[in-house]
Amino acid sequence: MLVNEKRIHTLNGASAGSGPVVYWMSREQRVADNWGLLHARELAGGTRPLVVAFCLVPGFLGATLRQYDFMLRGLEAVEAELARLSIPFVMLTGDPGREIPGLAARLGAGVVVTDFDPLRIKQAWQGDTAGSLGVPLIEVDGHNVIPARQVSAKQEYAARTIRPKIHRLFGEYLEEFPELTPQRITDPELGLELAPVDWRAVRGSLRVDESVGPVALPAGEAAGRAALDRFIAERVEGYAGDRNDPNADATSRLSAYFHFGQLAPQRAALAAAASGRGEGQEAFLEELVVRRELSDNFCLHNPHYDSLRGAAPWALKTLDEHRHDPRPHLYSHEQFDAARTHSRLWNAAQTQLRASGYMHGYMRMYWAKKILEWSATPEEALETVLALNDRYQLDGRDPNGYVGALWSVAGLHDRAWKTRPVYGSIRYMNENGCRRKFDVDAYCERWEAAERG
Ligand SMILES: Cc1cc2nc3c(=O)[nH]c(=O)nc-3n(C[C@H](O)[C@H](O)[C@H](O)COP(=O)(O)OP(=O)(O)OC[C@H]3O[C@@H](n4cnc5c(N)ncnc54)[C@H](O)[C@@H]3O)c2cc1C
Repeated sequence: MLVNEKRIHTLNGASAGSGPVVYWMSREQRVADNWGLLHARELAGGTRPLVVAFCLVPGFLGATLRQYDFMLRGLEAVEAELARLSIPFVMLTGDPGREIPGLAARLGAGVVVTDFDPLRIKQAWQGDTAGSLGVPLIEVDGHNVIPARQVSAKQEYAARTIRPKIHRLFGEYLEEFPELTPQRITDPELGLELAPVDWRAVRGSLRVDESVGPVALPAGEAAGRAALDRFIAERVEGYAGDRNDPNADATSRLSAYFHFGQLAPQRAALAAAASGRGEGQEAFLEELVVRRELSDNFCLHNPHYDSLRGAAPWALKTLDEHRHDPRPHLYSHEQFDAARTHSRLWNAAQTQLRASGYMHGYMRMYWAKKILEWSATPEEALETVLALNDRYQLDGRDPNGYVGALWSVAGLHDRAWKTRPVYGSIRYMNENGCRRKFDVDAYCERWEAAERG
């Protein structure tokens, strides 16, 4: 078998037919290094047609034009790359729970393969699809180096508890990807009328907030791969020392490519592991594999991943004890959104986010902790963090975002610290800490200048 069978999980009990294989592309929006697509290709073999389908939901969890634009640019590249391999690409629009079974019925499909995704809405779509398909729906984990269903059967407490499990299984799963072979069956033999996607019509069908516009970051799997290659050649060496300096441009900037599946995290892990860049390589693998896969573990096992109910009892207790502490400053969601606080540093971080679709990882922690400190309640703070994160970050609506927000506001995967007003024993951060790590004034000047245009 091309794909380790422990990556594969069947979502219903239906028997397979002999018709075409459909790969329902969802979280992994790429052709290369894609375990789900490889598995579908292997099932199709030399005699059964393989069709790749993507189902576009015209308005998704408050996503804005910024995120849709990046995703659609990536999917246009997917269609072109699949055409090179004679694999048809179908773009559906609507509710995937209805559209995917509809396509499978029209094609007389014998099996549908799709991507692992721990988020509730994706699992609901998969559940609806699994229930109405008369053939198997097979899930393949192409996002985690160690498949999330294999690494642990429960919610892990922290990085320190998942790390040994990941390290133990690394050797088994960190393998090179096989190549995807072209399809030999042509469109007429498929018996389908599969016209190329009309991308203008697809864009016209969007029902999204256009006030948050596209960003210039090149999209698609070739761009993701080029960004990875540049990072490994030029920056991974300094990653351990410089990654907490927002002025240093030391991090990989790969998160949007991972979020939209335009780059396989496993490809990045293979490249880092082969780089021979000592400390930098180790520090990068810790974030890329241990921290990132801890987020999938949390969302898979905790249905409350986007509310305070997902936090640990000690954290809820301490936040509650400090619920009525006077706040040094109090801002509404709208004031935060408009970057109108008293803090030059906080406003600069929010400006970076609004302008570029990306906030540096160190600043994300500071930014979210100050929202806790300056909001009326911890519940309102978490709502504001998630709403702004998902509205402006290109990589928003991701398990990493839900975990980052709960880590900042409610001590998820962290421990209790010295007690303070408002925070209780949740870890505190302040501007002096930032000043010890980097040149705060240079950061502010850069983003103030960007805002002035
Ligand atoms: C409040 C808050 C919100 C966040 N929102 C998101 C989000 O919406 N989407 C998102 O992908 N990440 C989010 N993160 C996690 C992290 O900040 C980003 O992944 C990282 O800054 C992306 O930049 P990079 O690709 O240059 O990271 P690098 O430092 O180059 O790291 C490489 C990769 O490792 C993973 N990674 C790095 N840091 C973390 C972390 N702390 N937890 C989990 N995985 C990590 C990411 O996949 C990242 O692309 C959030 C963190 C916080 C504190």
